[in-house]
Amino acid sequence: MKTTIPTLDLTRNYARIKGEIKEALEEVLEGQHFILGPEVGKFEEECARYLGGGVSAVSCASGTDALFLALMALDIGEGDEVITTPYSFFATASCITRLGATPVFVDVDPRTYNVDCERVLNAVTPRTKAFLPVHIFGQMAPLEEVADQLASRGIPIVEDAAQAFGSWRSIDGKPMRAGAVGTLGCFSFFPTKNLGGYGDGGLITTTDRKLADRLKKLRVHGAGKTYYHDEVGLNSRLDTLQAAILRVKLRHLEEWNEERRRVSGRYSALFAEYGLLDAITPPAELQGNYHIYHQYVVKARRRDELQHFLDEEGIVSRIYYPVSLHLQRCFSFLGHKEGDFPVSEQLSRETLALPVFPELTMEEQRRIVSAAAEFYGKNV
Ligand SMILES: *Cc1c(COP(=O)(O)O)cnc(C)c1O
Repeated sequence: MKTTIPTLDLTRNYARIKGEIKEALEEVLEGQHFILGPEVGKFEEECARYLGGGVSAVSCASGTDALFLALMALDIGEGDEVITTPYSFFATASCITRLGATPVFVDVDPRTYNVDCERVLNAVTPRTKAFLPVHIFGQMAPLEEVADQLASRGIPIVEDAAQAFGSWRSIDGKPMRAGAVGTLGCFSFFPTKNLGGYGDGGLITTTDRKLADRLKKLRVHGAGKTYYHDEVGLNSRLDTLQAAILRVKLRHLEEWNEERRRVSGRYSALFAEYGLLDAITPPAELQGNYHIYHQYVVKARRRDELQHFLDEEGIVSRIYYPVSLHLQRCFSFLGHKEGDFPVSEQLSRETLALPVFPELTMEEQRRIVSAAAEFYGKNV
């Protein structure tokens, strides 16, 4: 029996930082301060400093809540429209409909899988209240292409940066991190994200002090002072244990993102070496982008058969995302049909996420690529 190669092996990551994590947890346990404790404030400051661009950071209970709170802080509700992508995780669209607003989808760029910024302005109507792009799989969308024109119409950008902690893009010659370009940025610390906690967690960034203050109230039931409620908010806080863990992991993130990039570079080289580039299209990295490869997603010929073959070889791959958001049953009230966003739909049929994590070895990658070569009948 061959050993299984998982899409992500968190045990290897834990082995690298075990000592530091145990020390950090012990400190919180000794202090017995579990909700919004001192570690949370320190973690928020460290995130703000790391992300740059003069942002403040407000943590919360999940990436989904980060998106929901961000739209709440912009007073988005019934009758409003939010422009977004159909090729993302569910939460990107559900945070819009849960507030009574309508997601207006714009199809994606077939090279990067990110929302096609050139088409965004065509989707603007008098009801548009925000643009919610996703930095899909860890590569930033080129937001500067539409930022000024949206700003002149008073439309804020809310970045869904749940998959892109530490990713950046050169804008006007300056490196700008995901989450520091729009009016608001939203992050997730779900355990499988590239900066993942050991449970749920999320973060919202903003350069607008007023929005930061409002978000700090909204995450504690809308209370400015405990038991005095200015508005109705959520119970959505990052717990102190998660903050302590995430502070340890943030110290290593640059190194781990570099390692993800190395793994991704090795895949491209191996596809070429095995003569696979007519069957497998590696992900494209746009000029000026520092892609952190939260996921390594290729387009593959006969995708479903390839996935089945890899599975039999003990290689786990995943499909992100098998159903475009406009075709989800729960959104049928929006009245979309197949063919409305053809690029997104085609990606749903053709893309495959291969194992990627900092500790993935060259030997494992060779096994993965040589299995693919065998599937496509290449001489190996
Ligand atoms: C993971 C993810 C979210 C939601 O984050 P949770 O912490 O799981 O709630 C939102 N958007 C995208 C693009 C994601 O990948």
